[in-house]
Amino acid sequence: MHIVFAASECAPWAKTGGLADVVSALPKTLVKMGHKVHVYLPYYRQVAKMVPEPPVVLPSVTIPFASYSRFARILDGGNADGVQVYFVDIPELFDRESFYATPSGDYPDNGERFGSFSRAVIEATKVIDVPDVYHVHDWQTSMLAVMLRSVYYFDPILRHVPALLTIHNAGYQGTFPPRMMETLLLPWDMFTLDKLEQYDQVNFLKGGIVYSDAITTVSATYAKEIQTPEFGNGLEGTLQSRASDLFGILNGADYSEWDPSSDPLIAAHFTPQKLDGKKECRRDLLHAFRFENVTDDTAVIGVVSRFATQKGIDFIVDIMDRLLKEDVVLVMLGNGEEYYERLLTEMAERYPEKVRVQVKFDNVMAHKIEAGSDLFLMPSRYEPGGLNQIYSLKYGTIPVVRATGGLQDSIEELPNGDGNGFKFLGYDPNDFFEAVLRALTAFRDKKVWKVMMKRAMEQDFSWDKPAQEYVRVYERIIQNRL
Ligand code: ADP
Repeated sequence: MHIVFAASECAPWAKTGGLADVVSALPKTLVKMGHKVHVYLPYYRQVAKMVPEPPVVLPSVTIPFASYSRFARILDGGNADGVQVYFVDIPELFDRESFYATPSGDYPDNGERFGSFSRAVIEATKVIDVPDVYHVHDWQTSMLAVMLRSVYYFDPILRHVPALLTIHNAGYQGTFPPRMMETLLLPWDMFTLDKLEQYDQVNFLKGGIVYSDAITTVSATYAKEIQTPEFGNGLEGTLQSRASDLFGILNGADYSEWDPSSDPLIAAHFTPQKLDGKKECRRDLLHAFRFENVTDDTAVIGVVSRFATQKGIDFIVDIMDRLLKEDVVLVMLGNGEEYYERLLTEMAERYPEKVRVQVKFDNVMAHKIEAGSDLFLMPSRYEPGGLNQIYSLKYGTIPVVRATGGLQDSIEELPNGDGNGFKFLGYDPNDFFEAVLRALTAFRDKKVWKVMMKRAMEQDFSWDKPAQEYVRVYERIIQNRL
Protein backbone atom coordinates (compact mmCIF):
# COMPACT_ATOMS: atom_id res chain seq x y z
CA MET A 1 0.00 0.00 0.00
CA HIS A 2 1.22 3.51 -0.77
CA ILE A 3 0.41 6.18 1.81
CA VAL A 4 1.09 9.90 1.51
CA PHE A 5 1.45 11.79 4.76
CA ALA A 6 0.78 15.52 4.53
CA ALA A 7 1.67 17.27 7.76
CA SER A 8 2.83 20.57 9.18
CA GLU A 9 5.37 18.94 11.49
CA CYS A 10 7.81 16.05 11.30
CA ALA A 11 10.75 15.36 13.60
CA PRO A 12 13.59 16.17 13.39
CA TRP A 13 12.95 19.04 10.97
CA ALA A 14 9.92 20.80 12.37
CA LYS A 15 8.57 20.08 15.82
CA THR A 16 6.45 21.89 18.37
CA GLY A 17 4.86 18.80 19.90
CA GLY A 18 3.70 15.22 19.58
CA LEU A 19 2.43 15.60 16.01
CA ALA A 20 6.04 15.79 14.82
CA ASP A 21 6.96 12.57 16.63
CA VAL A 22 3.98 10.69 15.19
CA VAL A 23 4.63 11.86 11.62
CA SER A 24 8.24 10.77 12.01
CA ALA A 25 7.65 7.39 13.67
CA LEU A 26 4.48 5.96 12.12
CA PRO A 27 5.80 6.09 8.52
CA LYS A 28 8.98 4.26 9.58
CA THR A 29 6.91 1.46 11.08
CA LEU A 30 4.62 1.28 8.04
CA VAL A 31 7.68 0.92 5.80
CA LYS A 32 8.99 -1.85 8.05
CA MET A 33 5.66 -3.61 7.49
CA GLY A 34 6.21 -3.47 3.74
CA HIS A 35 4.26 -0.34 2.79
CA LYS A 36 5.46 2.64 0.80
CA VAL A 37 5.26 6.04 2.50
CA HIS A 38 5.93 9.54 1.19
CA VAL A 39 5.89 12.39 3.71
CA TYR A 40 5.27 16.00 2.58
CA LEU A 41 6.37 18.83 4.85
CA PRO A 42 6.56 22.62 4.28
CA TYR A 43 10.08 23.84 3.59
CA TYR A 44 10.17 26.16 6.61
CA ARG A 45 13.14 28.42 7.24
CA GLN A 46 14.10 26.03 10.07
CA VAL A 47 14.12 23.11 7.64
CA ALA A 48 16.16 25.10 5.11
CA LYS A 49 18.78 25.70 7.83
CA MET A 50 19.10 21.95 8.38
CA VAL A 51 18.86 20.96 4.70
CA PRO A 52 20.21 23.98 2.79
CA GLU A 53 19.98 22.98 -0.88
CA PRO A 54 18.09 19.77 -1.43
CA PRO A 55 17.70 18.48 -4.99
CA VAL A 56 14.71 19.88 -6.86
CA VAL A 57 12.18 17.21 -7.80
CA LEU A 58 9.56 19.47 -9.38
CA PRO A 59 10.61 23.04 -10.21
CA SER A 60 7.09 24.44 -10.40
CA VAL A 61 3.75 23.24 -9.10
CA THR A 62 0.84 25.62 -9.71
CA ILE A 63 -1.42 26.63 -6.86
CA PRO A 64 -4.22 28.58 -8.52
CA PHE A 65 -5.86 31.66 -7.04
CA ALA A 66 -8.54 33.96 -8.41
CA SER A 67 -6.34 36.64 -9.92
CA TYR A 68 -2.87 35.17 -9.71
CA SER A 69 -1.21 31.86 -8.91
CA ARG A 70 1.40 30.74 -6.45
CA PHE A 71 4.12 28.33 -7.43
CA ALA A 72 5.72 25.71 -5.23
CA ARG A 73 8.93 23.81 -5.72
CA ILE A 74 9.01 20.22 -4.54
CA LEU A 75 12.36 19.34 -3.00
CA ASP A 76 13.85 15.97 -2.20
CA GLY A 77 14.16 15.67 1.58
CA GLY A 78 15.89 12.32 1.25
CA ASN A 79 15.02 8.80 2.18
CA ALA A 80 15.65 7.76 5.76
CA ASP A 81 14.61 4.34 7.07
CA GLY A 82 12.81 3.79 3.77
CA VAL A 83 10.56 6.84 4.18
CA GLN A 84 10.74 9.30 1.28
CA VAL A 85 10.39 12.91 2.42
CA TYR A 86 9.44 15.82 0.14
CA PHE A 87 9.64 19.46 1.13
CA VAL A 88 7.15 21.93 -0.33
CA ASP A 89 8.95 25.19 -0.95
CA ILE A 90 6.78 28.32 -1.08
CA PRO A 91 9.19 30.93 0.33
CA GLU A 92 6.66 33.75 0.70
CA LEU A 93 4.59 31.49 2.98
CA PHE A 94 7.12 29.38 4.87
CA ASP A 95 10.43 31.25 4.98
CA ARG A 96 9.50 32.82 8.31
CA GLU A 97 10.76 33.17 11.86
CA SER A 98 8.42 30.48 13.27
CA PHE A 99 6.10 27.71 12.18
CA TYR A 100 2.72 29.15 13.11
CA ALA A 101 2.94 32.35 15.10
CA THR A 102 4.94 35.22 16.51
CA PRO A 103 4.74 36.22 20.20
CA SER A 104 1.99 38.65 19.23
CA GLY A 105 -0.18 35.93 17.71
CA ASP A 106 -0.81 33.56 14.82
CA TYR A 107 0.32 34.56 11.34
CA PRO A 108 -2.80 36.14 9.82
CA ASP A 109 -2.37 34.21 6.58
CA ASN A 110 -2.14 30.75 8.20
CA GLY A 111 -5.24 29.66 6.26
CA GLU A 112 -3.62 30.54 2.98
CA ARG A 113 -0.31 29.05 4.07
CA PHE A 114 -1.63 25.62 4.94
CA GLY A 115 -4.42 25.65 2.35
CA SER A 116 -1.76 26.28 -0.31
CA PHE A 117 0.47 23.59 1.16
CA SER A 118 -2.39 21.08 1.02
CA ARG A 119 -3.13 21.93 -2.60
CA ALA A 120 0.55 21.73 -3.53
CA VAL A 121 0.70 18.22 -2.05
CA ILE A 122 -2.24 17.08 -4.18
CA GLU A 123 -0.66 18.57 -7.31
CA ALA A 124 2.77 17.12 -6.51
CA THR A 125 1.45 13.62 -5.89
CA LYS A 126 -0.38 13.72 -9.21
CA VAL A 127 2.99 14.04 -10.90
CA ILE A 128 5.27 12.09 -8.56
CA ASP A 129 3.07 9.21 -7.45
CA VAL A 130 -0.65 9.09 -6.60
CA PRO A 131 -1.06 7.16 -3.34
CA ASP A 132 -3.65 4.59 -2.34
CA VAL A 133 -4.54 6.81 0.60
CA TYR A 134 -3.78 10.29 1.87
CA HIS A 135 -3.16 10.65 5.61
CA VAL A 136 -3.68 14.21 6.80
CA HIS A 137 -3.08 15.63 10.26
CA ASP A 138 -4.92 18.26 12.28
CA TRP A 139 -6.40 21.45 10.85
CA GLN A 140 -3.25 22.32 8.93
CA THR A 141 -3.72 19.64 6.28
CA SER A 142 -7.48 19.06 6.65
CA MET A 143 -8.03 21.11 3.51
CA LEU A 144 -6.38 18.37 1.48
CA ALA A 145 -9.34 16.11 2.27
CA VAL A 146 -11.78 18.94 1.56
CA MET A 147 -10.21 19.76 -1.81
CA LEU A 148 -10.04 16.12 -2.81
CA ARG A 149 -13.81 15.86 -2.48
CA SER A 150 -14.65 19.26 -3.95
CA VAL A 151 -12.37 21.01 -6.45
CA TYR A 152 -10.76 17.70 -7.43
CA TYR A 153 -14.03 15.79 -7.43
CA PHE A 154 -13.96 15.01 -11.14
CA ASP A 155 -10.27 14.17 -11.31
CA PRO A 156 -10.20 10.59 -12.59
CA ILE A 157 -6.95 9.68 -10.86
CA LEU A 158 -8.03 10.99 -7.45
CA ARG A 159 -11.67 9.95 -7.39
CA HIS A 160 -11.01 6.65 -5.69
CA VAL A 161 -8.28 7.83 -3.35
CA PRO A 162 -9.55 8.20 0.21
CA ALA A 163 -8.25 10.49 2.94
CA LEU A 164 -7.77 9.71 6.60
CA LEU A 165 -7.68 12.60 9.07
CA THR A 166 -5.89 12.15 12.38
CA ILE A 167 -6.87 14.64 15.06
CA HIS A 168 -3.94 15.17 17.37
CA ASN A 169 -5.64 18.04 19.15
CA ALA A 170 -9.20 19.27 18.62
CA GLY A 171 -8.40 22.41 20.59
CA TYR A 172 -6.75 23.90 17.50
CA GLN A 173 -9.18 24.10 14.58
CA GLY A 174 -7.85 26.66 12.11
CA THR A 175 -10.67 29.19 11.81
CA PHE A 176 -10.61 32.00 9.29
CA PRO A 177 -12.94 34.68 7.92
CA PRO A 178 -15.44 33.61 5.21
CA ARG A 179 -13.37 35.15 2.43
CA MET A 180 -10.98 32.21 2.89
CA MET A 181 -13.46 30.30 0.69
CA GLU A 182 -12.56 32.61 -2.19
CA THR A 183 -8.87 32.69 -1.36
CA LEU A 184 -8.70 28.91 -1.69
CA LEU A 185 -11.13 28.84 -4.62
CA LEU A 186 -13.63 26.73 -2.72
CA PRO A 187 -17.29 26.81 -3.80
CA TRP A 188 -19.48 29.02 -1.62
CA ASP A 189 -22.12 26.31 -1.31
CA MET A 190 -19.71 24.52 1.02
CA PHE A 191 -19.88 27.42 3.46
CA THR A 192 -22.77 25.91 5.40
CA LEU A 193 -23.10 24.59 8.93
CA ASP A 194 -23.01 20.95 7.83
CA LYS A 195 -19.75 21.51 5.93
CA LEU A 196 -17.09 24.17 6.54
CA GLU A 197 -18.91 26.89 8.44
CA GLN A 198 -18.65 27.24 12.19
CA TYR A 199 -19.71 30.44 13.97
CA ASP A 200 -19.50 32.42 10.72
CA GLN A 201 -15.95 31.29 10.12
CA VAL A 202 -14.34 28.78 7.80
CA ASN A 203 -13.25 25.98 10.11
CA PHE A 204 -10.52 23.82 8.55
CA LEU A 205 -10.72 21.00 11.07
CA LYS A 206 -14.48 20.78 10.65
CA GLY A 207 -13.95 20.48 6.90
CA GLY A 208 -11.50 17.66 7.51
CA ILE A 209 -13.97 15.84 9.75
CA VAL A 210 -16.80 16.20 7.23
CA TYR A 211 -14.86 15.30 4.10
CA SER A 212 -12.34 12.66 5.23
CA ASP A 213 -13.27 9.04 4.69
CA ALA A 214 -12.42 8.24 8.30
CA ILE A 215 -11.09 10.09 11.32
CA THR A 216 -8.75 8.85 14.00
CA THR A 217 -7.67 10.43 17.25
CA VAL A 218 -4.59 9.53 19.21
CA SER A 219 -6.30 7.56 21.97
CA ALA A 220 -9.57 5.67 22.43
CA THR A 221 -10.62 7.81 25.39
CA TYR A 222 -10.06 11.04 23.46
CA ALA A 223 -12.16 9.66 20.58
CA LYS A 224 -15.05 9.47 23.05
CA GLU A 225 -14.22 12.72 24.84
CA ILE A 226 -14.30 14.87 21.70
CA GLN A 227 -17.88 13.84 21.10
CA THR A 228 -18.84 15.80 24.23
CA PRO A 229 -19.09 19.59 24.59
CA GLU A 230 -16.29 19.67 27.16
CA PHE A 231 -13.64 18.38 24.74
CA GLY A 232 -15.19 18.86 21.28
CA ASN A 233 -14.78 22.64 21.34
CA GLY A 234 -17.94 23.11 19.31
CA LEU A 235 -17.24 20.26 16.90
CA GLU A 236 -18.82 17.57 19.10
CA GLY A 237 -21.97 17.42 16.94
CA THR A 238 -19.97 17.07 13.73
CA LEU A 239 -17.86 14.36 15.36
CA GLN A 240 -20.94 12.53 16.63
CA SER A 241 -22.31 12.49 13.11
CA ARG A 242 -19.11 10.69 12.01
CA ALA A 243 -19.03 8.35 15.03
CA SER A 244 -19.11 5.18 12.91
CA ASP A 245 -15.98 6.36 11.06
CA LEU A 246 -14.15 7.65 14.12
CA PHE A 247 -11.46 5.50 15.73
CA GLY A 248 -9.05 5.98 18.61
CA ILE A 249 -5.52 4.63 18.12
CA LEU A 250 -3.12 5.22 20.97
CA ASN A 251 0.20 6.75 19.96
CA GLY A 252 3.30 4.63 20.19
CA ALA A 253 6.80 5.61 21.21
CA ASP A 254 9.70 5.61 18.77
CA TYR A 255 12.16 3.49 20.71
CA SER A 256 14.90 4.21 18.19
CA GLU A 257 14.81 7.72 19.71
CA TRP A 258 13.50 7.10 23.22
CA ASP A 259 15.18 4.10 24.84
CA PRO A 260 17.57 4.43 27.79
CA SER A 261 19.54 1.39 26.66
CA SER A 262 20.68 3.17 23.49
CA ASP A 263 19.78 6.89 23.76
CA PRO A 264 22.87 8.86 22.64
CA LEU A 265 21.61 12.05 24.31
CA ILE A 266 21.83 10.84 27.93
CA ALA A 267 24.78 10.48 30.30
CA ALA A 268 24.65 6.70 30.76
CA HIS A 269 22.61 3.79 29.47
CA PHE A 270 20.38 1.59 31.59
CA THR A 271 17.88 -1.26 31.33
CA PRO A 272 15.31 -2.80 33.70
CA GLN A 273 17.94 -5.40 34.61
CA LYS A 274 20.76 -2.93 35.06
CA LEU A 275 19.54 0.32 36.54
CA ASP A 276 22.86 1.83 37.65
CA GLY A 277 23.02 4.15 34.63
CA LYS A 278 19.88 5.92 35.79
CA LYS A 279 21.74 7.22 38.84
CA GLU A 280 24.35 8.68 36.53
CA CYS A 281 21.60 10.30 34.43
CA ARG A 282 20.07 11.72 37.60
CA ARG A 283 23.41 13.24 38.64
CA ASP A 284 23.89 14.62 35.13
CA LEU A 285 20.42 16.18 35.15
CA LEU A 286 20.92 17.78 38.55
CA HIS A 287 24.25 19.12 37.38
CA ALA A 288 22.66 20.53 34.18
CA PHE A 289 20.14 22.37 36.34
CA ARG A 290 22.88 23.42 38.79
CA PHE A 291 21.50 21.64 41.81
CA GLU A 292 24.00 20.67 44.48
CA ASN A 293 23.82 18.24 47.38
CA VAL A 294 20.62 16.48 46.38
CA THR A 295 20.59 13.09 48.07
CA ASP A 296 19.07 9.85 46.81
CA ASP A 297 16.16 10.36 49.21
CA THR A 298 15.06 13.53 47.47
CA ALA A 299 12.55 12.92 44.69
CA VAL A 300 13.58 14.58 41.44
CA ILE A 301 10.38 15.65 39.73
CA GLY A 302 10.48 16.44 36.03
CA VAL A 303 8.22 18.33 33.64
CA VAL A 304 8.65 18.67 29.86
CA SER A 305 5.73 20.43 28.31
CA ARG A 306 4.36 23.06 26.06
CA PHE A 307 3.50 25.78 28.54
CA ALA A 308 -0.19 26.00 27.69
CA THR A 309 -3.44 26.02 29.64
CA GLN A 310 -4.17 22.58 28.19
CA LYS A 311 -1.23 21.11 30.08
CA GLY A 312 -2.51 22.04 33.55
CA ILE A 313 0.51 24.22 34.32
CA ASP A 314 -1.71 26.23 36.67
CA PHE A 315 -2.15 23.08 38.78
CA ILE A 316 1.59 22.78 39.23
CA VAL A 317 1.72 26.42 40.29
CA ASP A 318 -1.27 25.91 42.59
CA ILE A 319 0.29 23.04 44.55
CA MET A 320 3.85 24.46 44.52
CA ASP A 321 3.88 25.71 48.15
CA ARG A 322 2.60 22.41 49.49
CA LEU A 323 4.75 20.30 47.21
CA LEU A 324 7.95 22.07 48.18
CA LYS A 325 7.41 21.21 51.84
CA GLU A 326 8.17 17.64 50.78
CA ASP A 327 11.66 16.32 50.10
CA VAL A 328 11.66 17.13 46.39
CA VAL A 329 13.32 19.20 43.70
CA LEU A 330 11.49 20.26 40.55
CA VAL A 331 13.05 20.61 37.09
CA MET A 332 10.90 22.05 34.34
CA LEU A 333 11.50 22.51 30.63
CA GLY A 334 9.04 24.16 28.31
CA ASN A 335 7.94 27.12 26.33
CA GLY A 336 4.76 28.51 24.87
CA GLU A 337 2.29 30.92 26.39
CA GLU A 338 4.11 33.94 27.76
CA TYR A 339 1.91 34.03 30.85
CA TYR A 340 3.08 30.60 31.98
CA GLU A 341 6.67 31.21 30.96
CA ARG A 342 6.69 34.24 33.27
CA LEU A 343 4.77 32.55 36.08
CA LEU A 344 7.11 29.58 36.20
CA THR A 345 10.22 31.73 35.96
CA GLU A 346 8.89 33.63 38.98
CA MET A 347 8.38 30.34 40.82
CA ALA A 348 12.00 29.40 40.17
CA GLU A 349 13.10 32.77 41.51
CA ARG A 350 10.92 32.42 44.58
CA TYR A 351 12.17 28.92 45.43
CA PRO A 352 15.79 28.88 44.25
CA GLU A 353 16.75 25.86 46.37
CA LYS A 354 14.07 23.61 44.97
CA VAL A 355 12.82 24.77 41.58
CA ARG A 356 14.57 25.28 38.28
CA VAL A 357 12.91 26.24 35.01
CA GLN A 358 14.39 26.38 31.53
CA VAL A 359 12.21 28.28 29.08
CA LYS A 360 13.13 26.91 25.66
CA PHE A 361 12.63 24.05 23.26
CA ASP A 362 15.54 21.68 23.76
CA ASN A 363 15.34 18.07 22.66
CA VAL A 364 18.56 17.04 24.42
CA MET A 365 17.33 18.45 27.71
CA ALA A 366 13.97 16.71 27.22
CA HIS A 367 15.83 13.40 27.02
CA LYS A 368 17.93 14.24 30.07
CA ILE A 369 14.81 15.02 32.11
CA GLU A 370 13.10 11.80 31.07
CA ALA A 371 16.22 9.84 31.98
CA GLY A 372 17.22 11.58 35.20
CA SER A 373 13.93 12.25 36.99
CA ASP A 374 12.20 9.98 39.48
CA LEU A 375 8.69 11.31 38.84
CA PHE A 376 7.14 13.06 35.86
CA LEU A 377 4.10 15.36 36.11
CA MET A 378 1.32 15.62 33.50
CA PRO A 379 -1.76 17.14 35.15
CA SER A 380 -3.30 17.95 31.76
CA ARG A 381 -6.71 19.56 31.44
CA TYR A 382 -7.04 17.36 28.38
CA GLU A 383 -4.46 15.19 26.63
CA PRO A 384 -5.40 13.68 23.26
CA GLY A 385 -2.59 11.12 23.31
CA GLY A 386 0.41 12.35 25.17
CA LEU A 387 3.85 10.99 24.47
CA ASN A 388 5.88 12.09 27.45
CA GLN A 389 4.15 9.68 29.82
CA ILE A 390 5.01 6.82 27.45
CA TYR A 391 8.63 7.99 27.19
CA SER A 392 8.74 8.34 30.99
CA LEU A 393 7.69 4.72 31.45
CA LYS A 394 10.54 3.51 29.26
CA TYR A 395 13.04 5.52 31.35
CA GLY A 396 11.67 4.25 34.66
CA THR A 397 10.40 7.72 35.48
CA ILE A 398 7.02 7.23 37.11
CA PRO A 399 4.28 9.51 35.74
CA VAL A 400 1.67 11.31 37.80
CA VAL A 401 -1.14 12.13 35.40
CA ARG A 402 -4.70 13.31 35.13
CA ALA A 403 -7.08 10.57 33.95
CA THR A 404 -7.89 12.02 30.54
CA GLY A 405 -7.37 11.01 26.90
CA GLY A 406 -4.20 9.06 26.24
CA LEU A 407 -3.08 9.46 29.86
CA GLN A 408 -6.13 7.50 30.94
CA ASP A 409 -5.38 4.80 28.35
CA SER A 410 -1.69 4.33 29.14
CA ILE A 411 -1.32 4.88 32.87
CA GLU A 412 -2.78 2.63 35.52
CA GLU A 413 -2.66 3.24 39.25
CA LEU A 414 -3.14 0.19 41.45
CA PRO A 415 -2.81 -0.22 45.22
CA ASN A 416 0.66 -0.91 46.66
CA GLY A 417 2.49 0.44 43.62
CA ASP A 418 1.24 -2.41 41.44
CA GLY A 419 0.48 -0.13 38.48
CA ASN A 420 2.76 1.95 36.28
CA GLY A 421 1.94 5.39 37.64
CA PHE A 422 -0.37 7.62 39.66
CA LYS A 423 -3.58 9.13 38.42
CA PHE A 424 -6.28 11.55 39.51
CA LEU A 425 -9.64 12.24 37.95
CA GLY A 426 -11.18 15.50 39.13
CA TYR A 427 -10.05 18.80 37.71
CA ASP A 428 -8.97 19.84 41.14
CA PRO A 429 -5.45 20.72 42.35
CA ASN A 430 -6.14 18.97 45.64
CA ASP A 431 -6.69 15.69 43.81
CA PHE A 432 -3.46 16.30 41.91
CA PHE A 433 -1.60 16.96 45.14
CA GLU A 434 -3.01 13.79 46.70
CA ALA A 435 -1.77 11.79 43.71
CA VAL A 436 1.72 13.32 44.02
CA LEU A 437 1.73 12.44 47.73
CA ARG A 438 0.83 8.83 46.92
CA ALA A 439 3.69 8.77 44.44
CA LEU A 440 6.10 10.21 47.02
CA THR A 441 5.02 7.61 49.58
CA ALA A 442 5.79 4.86 47.07
CA PHE A 443 9.09 6.54 46.18
CA ARG A 444 10.21 6.38 49.80
CA ASP A 445 9.76 2.61 49.84
CA LYS A 446 12.80 1.72 47.76
CA LYS A 447 11.69 -1.87 47.20
CA VAL A 448 8.22 -0.96 45.95
CA TRP A 449 9.72 1.78 43.79
CA LYS A 450 12.24 -0.43 42.09
CA VAL A 451 9.60 -3.01 41.20
CA MET A 452 7.41 -0.26 39.83
CA MET A 453 10.21 1.21 37.76
CA LYS A 454 11.06 -2.14 36.24
CA ARG A 455 7.42 -2.86 35.44
CA ALA A 456 7.06 0.50 33.73
CA MET A 457 10.27 0.03 31.74
CA GLU A 458 9.25 -3.40 30.52
CA GLN A 459 5.97 -2.23 29.05
CA ASP A 460 5.80 -2.16 25.29
CA PHE A 461 4.36 0.98 23.69
CA SER A 462 6.16 0.52 20.39
CA TRP A 463 4.51 1.59 17.14
CA ASP A 464 3.98 -1.97 15.84
CA LYS A 465 0.46 -2.43 17.18
CA PRO A 466 -0.83 1.10 16.47
CA ALA A 467 0.62 0.91 12.93
CA GLN A 468 -1.36 -2.28 12.32
CA GLU A 469 -4.49 -0.49 13.49
CA TYR A 470 -3.82 2.38 11.07
CA VAL A 471 -3.39 -0.13 8.24
CA ARG A 472 -6.78 -1.63 9.06
CA VAL A 473 -8.36 1.81 8.80
CA TYR A 474 -6.53 2.54 5.52
CA GLU A 475 -7.75 -0.78 4.10
CA ARG A 476 -11.30 -0.09 5.16
CA ILE A 477 -11.49 3.33 3.54
CA ILE A 478 -9.75 2.17 0.37
CA GLN A 479 -12.27 -0.64 0.11
CA ASN A 480 -15.22 1.71 0.68
CA ARG A 481 -14.16 3.98 -2.16
CA LEU A 482 -13.58 1.31 -4.80
P1 ADP B 1 1.77 17.90 22.72
O1 ADP B 1 1.83 17.34 21.35
O2 ADP B 1 0.38 18.27 23.16
O3 ADP B 1 2.71 19.03 22.95
P2 ADP B 1 2.83 15.31 23.61
O4 ADP B 1 3.09 14.77 24.96
O5 ADP B 1 2.00 14.47 22.68
O6 ADP B 1 2.21 16.77 23.77
O7 ADP B 1 4.22 15.54 22.86
C1 ADP B 1 5.14 16.47 23.26
C2 ADP B 1 6.45 16.23 22.56
O8 ADP B 1 7.16 17.46 22.47
C3 ADP B 1 7.36 15.28 23.29
O9 ADP B 1 8.22 14.63 22.39
C4 ADP B 1 8.16 16.23 24.19
O10 ADP B 1 9.38 15.71 24.60
C5 ADP B 1 8.34 17.40 23.27
N1 ADP B 1 8.50 18.69 23.95
C6 ADP B 1 7.54 19.48 24.46
N2 ADP B 1 8.08 20.63 24.96
C7 ADP B 1 9.41 20.55 24.74
C8 ADP B 1 10.52 21.41 25.01
N3 ADP B 1 10.35 22.58 25.61
N4 ADP B 1 11.75 21.01 24.65
C9 ADP B 1 11.92 19.81 24.04
N5 ADP B 1 10.92 18.95 23.75
C10 ADP B 1 9.68 19.31 24.09
